[in-house]
Amino acid sequence: MTRKDQLEKLNEKMIACSKCDLRMGCKQVVPGDGSAKAEIMFIGEGPGAKEDDSGKPFVGAAGKFLDEMLGTIQLKRETVYIANVVKCRPPQNRDPLPEEAAACWPWLLEQIKVIQPKLIVTLGRHSMERFLPGYKISDVHGKAMRREIDGIGSQIFYTLYHPAAALYNGSMRNILIKDFKRIPKIIEKIKKEQV
Ligand code: URA
Repeated sequence: MTRKDQLEKLNEKMIACSKCDLRMGCKQVVPGDGSAKAEIMFIGEGPGAKEDDSGKPFVGAAGKFLDEMLGTIQLKRETVYIANVVKCRPPQNRDPLPEEAAACWPWLLEQIKVIQPKLIVTLGRHSMERFLPGYKISDVHGKAMRREIDGIGSQIFYTLYHPAAALYNGSMRNILIKDFKRIPKIIEKIKKEQV
């Protein structure tokens, strides 16, 4: 089965999931979007109102900003993969509860196992904490780190501030744009096995 077929099968399972209460309060499940063969996988926190309406991740203001930044490194969203820690919108966009993130975790691991990205880019503190617990985003943003993750094995992570948080904060925005522009260099280093 191709990776695309595997992802489609996985999406069907996610769409039928009701392992936590978030599913009752949202309009639809937002599994993820992009290429099944992506080298780079972006992982945000959870769908907001626009994502809940459309079924696609990062389509609101933060998504436009993400698209713009992808443009600065000559990438289109169709060539990367974009997903979230939780696939259902938390009420009033609150942070996902630990039990909600835990219920959704196996789906994220399955997505990573199918896509096998060279680089996982975490967007925001909550996404970072799932993979790199105990770190402070202000210390690790813009740094590539290899970590062993139960269920997926060795994987390289790159932590960024969340586009929604940086959108209206001038200094964070500049840091995010600068960190983002380093992604091609990091991919190059990964290919040369220097990370
Ligand atoms: N913020 C996220 O973390 N994910 C989305 O899909 C949209 C906004």
